[in-house]
Amino acid sequence: MIFAANFKTNHTRQSTQLYMKALNEKLGAKKPDDKVYIFPPSTALDTYEGEFTVGTQNAYPAHNGAYTGEIGLEQLDEFGIQTILIGHSERRELLEESQAKVADKFSFFKEQGFEIIYCIGEPLHIREQGFDSVLKYLLAQFEGIDVDYEKLIIAYEPIWAIGTGRSATVEEISTTHKALKKVINGKPLLYGGSAKPTNIQEITSIVGVDGVLVGSASLNADSFSKMILS
Ligand code: PEP
Repeated sequence: MIFAANFKTNHTRQSTQLYMKALNEKLGAKKPDDKVYIFPPSTALDTYEGEFTVGTQNAYPAHNGAYTGEIGLEQLDEFGIQTILIGHSERRELLEESQAKVADKFSFFKEQGFEIIYCIGEPLHIREQGFDSVLKYLLAQFEGIDVDYEKLIIAYEPIWAIGTGRSATVEEISTTHKALKKVINGKPLLYGGSAKPTNIQEITSIVGVDGVLVGSASLNADSFSKMILS
């Protein structure tokens, strides 16, 4: 299983250091095949020692240059970061990242050999239109994305389940993952959306779920390690 923690705009450099230490103390007990990723805010990127991979929540598709407020490859290289989250719904919606921009980012970081966790997900009004609409919406988020890229992991995150405390049902996750698995050529497929210690076992036992991308419940090292060790 894959367990990925997305801190979003939470934690400082100092609290991230404490978190990594506390988490790593628990990770000795994880199953050897399980993989853990942490995506701290950019200001807390660093070279951390531990049984986990540190990735960036975002970066501009350039080595360096005049991109005010962004970080590029040069800043990631400094800490040996080779993993990136692309297409998160908060970036698509709040920061108005279009599919074309998302695809540009994907191509650049693919070219650099990065491991990419690529996020897709539908808003509530699409879910309410029925499964055909959901699938059509999700498939459009693969426009310009090379699903054959060998370092690709997909995360299905229904937007209405993110940060709401209301996870998708087993049936919703199962049906959606089954359909997505047919188009992603065997790539690992994570579920994201209010995953937490109390529902992790149920979610990870669904056929077609290869792991979870976790926001709120990952912010506390104890809670996230509970999920990993459950
Ligand atoms: C996320 O934003 O990737 C996420 C899954 O958040 P949460 O776990 O808080 O729903």
